[in-house]
Amino acid sequence: MDEKKFCTKCGNELAPDAKFCPDCGTRIPGRNEEQVQAERAMVREFMDKRLRWCTILMLIYSVPFLFIGIWYNLNAADLAQTLMTDPLYKDVVDMFELTYQEAVDSYEVVGIAYILSAIFGFISAFLCWKKRMFWVATITCLLSLITGVAGFFAIFVGLITLWMIFSSKLAFAEYSEQYEEALESIQ
Ligand SMILES: [Zn+2]
Repeated sequence: MDEKKFCTKCGNELAPDAKFCPDCGTRIPGRNEEQVQAERAMVREFMDKRLRWCTILMLIYSVPFLFIGIWYNLNAADLAQTLMTDPLYKDVVDMFELTYQEAVDSYEVVGIAYILSAIFGFISAFLCWKKRMFWVATITCLLSLITGVAGFFAIFVGLITLWMIFSSKLAFAEYSEQYEEALESIQ
């Protein structure tokens, strides 16, 4: 770690923390320790904040998805009944030659997909909050957005979160050594 420093003007060897050359009085460029520490602390805070946002974003859709999923499963029979009898959906029903049982099954599958998306989302949110198991957090986020059948919302929020988790990789516990090294490199 002890890199030797030399005066840019006269070439005299300097103490590592020298601010002026003792020989010729030239000011040594570079920042003092407080500035360096402050910048490291800023990076740390930024990374922590970003992971907290990951938790919030995952929960924003996982919580409603859980309820929507349960609702679909509880009401699958009624929803299927409406689908089969409402003239509005007649064309669709005819086109797919949908039976009542198939309609019920479809609603249940949709509901289960919502619930799965919520469960994966909860796991990812929890791991981001704990800053643990980077890969599990990433994969559960991905699975959550794949199973999030509400389309745009889950895909949009999920992709943003996925990118944020990915770029916060070093802040996860298992990368703490690399993280410290990266912080050390701020000089
Ligand atoms: Zn000098």
